[in-house]
Amino acid sequence: MALASNPRAVVTGGGSGIGRAFCLALAKRGARVLVADINAEAATQTAKDVRSAGGTAESLRCDVSKRDEMFALPDVMTKHFGGTDVIFNNAGVAVGGPVHEIPVDDWEWLMGINLWGVIYGTLAFLPHFRAQKSGHFVNVASAAGLICGPGLAPYNVAKAGVVALSESLSVEVAPDGIGVSVLCPTFIRTNIHTSSRSHGEGTREMGEKMMARAKKSADEIAEITLRSVDRGELYIVPHSDGLWGWRLKRADPEGFYKRIVPRAMKSVSEGKGSGEDGVLASLMNMIRK
Ligand code: NAD
Repeated sequence: MALASNPRAVVTGGGSGIGRAFCLALAKRGARVLVADINAEAATQTAKDVRSAGGTAESLRCDVSKRDEMFALPDVMTKHFGGTDVIFNNAGVAVGGPVHEIPVDDWEWLMGINLWGVIYGTLAFLPHFRAQKSGHFVNVASAAGLICGPGLAPYNVAKAGVVALSESLSVEVAPDGIGVSVLCPTFIRTNIHTSSRSHGEGTREMGEKMMARAKKSADEIAEITLRSVDRGELYIVPHSDGLWGWRLKRADPEGFYKRIVPRAMKSVSEGKGSGEDGVLASLMNMIRK
């Protein structure tokens, strides 16, 4: 079902990057948006920008890893806008490095935001969507949740969890007229590196290199997402490297992890295959070999 006209939307992590881009794309549709972010100042700024772009907006400091703060969101939406049509479970952080070098505190920090934040957002709004027999969950995962490469295990685990939750939920809620979409991009230039925690030699540099070569902007990803939501699509995989990597993995999971991923990592570390086109070219070369 297409997104309601002038939708009432809550966007977690709306103060920056993809979340901010969702807010501005929604503003073009005359949306009423609650910008929720742990960074109150950033949320306030996005809300101002939404109003300048023709939408209606309120902002709220909200930590998605705090159950009570997430469960309060439906009432905040009802107070401001009379209800909710769509939640963008978007807030997220990154932790990189080999499994043995990542401290348990960083695992817990990431799971609290990237996985529990989405679970809380889902459980908070589910009764409301069921009662009104409409609503849409847009859960921001990552291609990392579909492909699960090395050096990002906590991130992969959380994002694979978000994909799994979205898949299960989509079937359960469809009879009630509720939609679910899960966004799985590869790299987009945002501010995620400023909060990310990196461990192990070269991890941060590798992440920054991949992000620097990203071609699609957060604004493009937001527009692609809204169009996919309008079409009622479950999976939104906007980058070709993510899409082809996911297809390859499903076609030959064993070969994918034993041959293709190690070779792709070598190629990327030698500077041959970073960026969407580069990673895709590396993958295609490997298929041909
Ligand atoms: P970003 O850092 O630019 O924006 C993330 C926002 O989330 C920030 O405003 C931050 O203050 C907020 N945030 C962080 N912790 C929070 C918390 N506990 N509660 C509420 N808000 C919190 O990053 P981004 O790249 O726009 O990330 C948005 C989402 O996109 C994340 O889920 C991320 O994993 C996902 N993603 C990003 C990329 C990429 O390459 N940038 C790729 C795939 C998926």
